[in-house]
Amino acid sequence: MCGIFGIFGNSEASNLTYLGLHALQHRGQESAGIVSADGRTFHVRREMGLVQDVFGARHLEALAGRAAIGHVRYSTSGVSQHKNAQPLTVEYSLGKLAVAHNGNLTNAPQLRAELEQQGAIFGGDSDTEVIIHLMARSRAPTLAKQMVEALAKVQGSYSLLFLTPTAIVAVRDPHGFRPLVLGKLRDATVFASETTALDLMGATLLREVDPGEMVVVDDMGMRSSRPFPADRPTRCVFEHVYFAKPDSDLFGASVYMTRQRFGMQLALEQPAAADLVIGVPDSGIPAAIGYSKASGIPYDVGLIRSHYVGRTFIEPQQSIRHFGVKLKLAAVREVLKGKRVVVVDDSIVRGTTSRKIVTMIKAAGASEVHMRISSPPTRWPCYYGIDTPRRAELIAATQPVEEIARFITADSLGYLSVEGLGAAVGDPESKTFCMACFTGKYPTPIRNVEDEAPVRAAARG
Ligand code: AMP
Repeated sequence: MCGIFGIFGNSEASNLTYLGLHALQHRGQESAGIVSADGRTFHVRREMGLVQDVFGARHLEALAGRAAIGHVRYSTSGVSQHKNAQPLTVEYSLGKLAVAHNGNLTNAPQLRAELEQQGAIFGGDSDTEVIIHLMARSRAPTLAKQMVEALAKVQGSYSLLFLTPTAIVAVRDPHGFRPLVLGKLRDATVFASETTALDLMGATLLREVDPGEMVVVDDMGMRSSRPFPADRPTRCVFEHVYFAKPDSDLFGASVYMTRQRFGMQLALEQPAAADLVIGVPDSGIPAAIGYSKASGIPYDVGLIRSHYVGRTFIEPQQSIRHFGVKLKLAAVREVLKGKRVVVVDDSIVRGTTSRKIVTMIKAAGASEVHMRISSPPTRWPCYYGIDTPRRAELIAATQPVEEIARFITADSLGYLSVEGLGAAVGDPESKTFCMACFTGKYPTPIRNVEDEAPVRAAARG
């Protein structure tokens, strides 16, 4: 998972990209990068680390030009790989090109092997390079046509921003798995993974870049085309469940309100006799408030989050991840003591986080802990850019709910149904969202779900 931002037509392009990336920091903390274009050439800075650590005033000053794209990258394996930091920059037959990618190409390994057999040399492990190699091989006369030819060969998810010395091109895959929005800041055109980046700088949201749409912006203005065969859009429901920032409007709906609806629906489907509802910060909070509203059980703050540690899942090793939960969350004894507590979290992946949280709440004096999850059991790996372990490591893929409840030591455990999730996002029949992590129904061909490792850091955009 990653965050991307781009702006064309503002003399503060790199400063605004810095702000945009800062707003998208939750989408990736491993590396950050900005490439700016001044009409003739590129200025580049990409480093491992958080946006605020990677860029200082002198770096931003050096990133001259009226156009820029930026990228924040998600870490999964924990291996620090500077070579995979984006935006990627290349020099090829049509000149300079930079690209920032959010998504995952499911046929990248095959395409890469074919390209390597034909003599291609790759500088990193990222599947984004495959796109550039395919473009470089194309005989099409223009950049846009080369992109279309290259992207016609790839499968999977991509929200992409390309930068040339004189233009930005934004493309979203025909399924629209990953978000990408288009906005205006005075005369400038802005692209961002999420609307929260536009809000930060006072830009207005125009609309989503549509699934399958290509938008070109240069000094002549903005042009849109739909060069790919129309496919049924299947936006990622997990963006609403967990990944996106709650103040964003995602796929046309408020993330915060959607999460509240998940919680309200959950309360109807999975009631509990309890004194108190608490949420696991941050992603479980809106659903916990929804649960409280629908059930009438009072909401309170029983867990406090430290803001000085990153998302626990990002820690590389199991041992550190265990420790990370304690680093991140602390229980409020006075709130929890002697209470029957409903704890709402957004998802259970391996179950280790929930187990720690339940233990912590009981240690703080709660008499009962009823875990409620504002999404269905995560049973299938994601191949479209959300970091998930192999199927065998997903606790719900191998264990029934009662067994998971025992493992996490909860007095009861209840999940939102697939139908309930669909109803809360306005898609009761799972037709317009990808829910493959819950249903196993992948909208594009996946070769061998049981054996094939899902998205790894190396393959992630
Ligand atoms: P686990 O201990 O593996 O069950 O982790 C579950 C926790 O990780 C939940 O509290 C989620 O908020 C969070 N989570 C779920 N999916 C992801 C993901 N793809 N990346 C990072 N964190 C996640």
